[in-house]
Amino acid sequence: MEEKEIKRMMQEKFAEIYGGEGELFFAPGRVNMIGEHTDYNGGHVFPCALTLGTYAAVKKRGDDVIRMASLNMDDAAIREMTIASASEKSGSWTDYPRGVIWAMAEKGNTIDTGFDVLYYGNIPAGSGLSSSASLEVLTALYLRELYGFDKVEQIDLAFIGQSAESDFVGMKCGIMDQFASAMGKENKAMFLDTNTMKFDYLPLALSDAKIVITNSMVKHELASSEYNTRRAECEKAVGMLKAKYDIATLGELTPEQFEEGKDLITDETIAKRAKHAVYENARTFAAVEALKNNDIATFGKLMNESHVSLRDDYAVSCPEIDELTRWAWDIEGVIGSRITGGGFGGCTVSIIKNDAIDTYKDAVFAKYKEQFDKELEFYVVDPGEGAHKL
Ligand code: ADP
Ligand code: MG
Repeated sequence: MEEKEIKRMMQEKFAEIYGGEGELFFAPGRVNMIGEHTDYNGGHVFPCALTLGTYAAVKKRGDDVIRMASLNMDDAAIREMTIASASEKSGSWTDYPRGVIWAMAEKGNTIDTGFDVLYYGNIPAGSGLSSSASLEVLTALYLRELYGFDKVEQIDLAFIGQSAESDFVGMKCGIMDQFASAMGKENKAMFLDTNTMKFDYLPLALSDAKIVITNSMVKHELASSEYNTRRAECEKAVGMLKAKYDIATLGELTPEQFEEGKDLITDETIAKRAKHAVYENARTFAAVEALKNNDIATFGKLMNESHVSLRDDYAVSCPEIDELTRWAWDIEGVIGSRITGGGFGGCTVSIIKNDAIDTYKDAVFAKYKEQFDKELEFYVVDPGEGAHKL
C-alpha cells in the first residue's frame, strides 16, 4: 500500500473505531548493514531507517482514559486503561506504548489527559526489522507533539523508546534500533558510536546494487531471553578483562588488545562472545572505510565475515538462515549477505547487483521452499526518513 492509501485507511478505521479524526504520525523500522550486537557493548553500528514502519492516528481526550488499538493485533480490539494504570504491565503488545508513557513521565513529561490511538504497521513483526522500536519511537513522537513536550529532542525519542523496551518491557536492548527509527535520513546510513553517541550520516552509494532484505519467516521467539544472556556474558568478559584493561565495555578494545588479554577470560563460551563483540566493532569501522572508498566488494566481504562470527562465536543465528546465507554467497552478483537484527530467525540483509536480484530471489526461494517448506519474502529497500508527523 502507498502512503497515501495508508493515511486514508487509518482515518477511515479511526473514525469507525473511535469516531472523529486523528493526527497522523510515522516511525520507520530499520535494517542494520553491519555492527551487530555491538550497540550494548559500547561499539559501533551502521543501520539505516526503512520506508516501512508503523503509523499512528491519535487524538487527545478530555478525561483520563487511554484507548489503544492496532490493526495488526486482535482484530483491532480496543485496549482501555487510565493514565494511572497505563504504567502497569499488561503482558500484551500495549506494553511497548505503556512503557513509553512511563519512560516519558520518568523524564518529567507527564500527560494530563488521555487519548485514543490506532496503530498500523507494515513491517513484518518479529522479523528483526524492529517493529518494536518503531512502535516505541512513534509513541514518544506523538506524545511529544500532542502534549507539547518541547524539551524532548528528536534523539531523546530514541532514548525514551529504548528505556521503554529495556526497563519496562524487559528486553535489555541497545540503542541502535530506536536511534535508527528516530534519526534516519533518506538514502543515508548512520555510523553511530554507541559509547559516545557521536554519529555520521553516510550516503549508501551502492551504484549498480541494492539492499535486499530476505525474511526467513522464522520468528525470533528465543530472542528476548537469549539476548539478555548474551548481554550478561559480555559484561562478565569485561569484568575479567578489567584485570588488564581499564574498560567499561568491549567496544573500547581493539582486536590486538583483545588477543593480548583474552587468556584472562576463563570461560570458553564467554571468550567467544567477547571475541565477536570486539571483532565486529572493528569490522564496522573497516566496512565504513570501504564504503567511503567506493569499495563495495570489501564491504560485502565484511558482511559475510560478520555473519560467520554471529553464527559461530555469538551463536545468534539459526539453521534456516545459515543455509540461506550459504546459498546467497554462492550466487554471482551477491556482494554480501548476513543475518540482521537480534537473531534466532528474522531476516538477512544482502547487497545484490541489480541484474542479479531476480536470479537470487528465484534460486533461494525454490531451495528454501524445498528444504524448509517455508516461503521467503523479499523487500528491496532504500534508506528512509526517521520518525515524523505526516
Ligand atoms: P521486531 O522488533 O524485530 O519486529 P520484537 O519481538 O522486538 O520484533 O517486536 C515485535 C512486537 O512488537 C510484536 O509482537 C508486538 O507486540 C509489537 N508490535 C510491533 N508492531 C506492532 C503494531 N503495529 N501493533 C501492535 N503491536 C506491535
Ligand atoms: Mg524489536
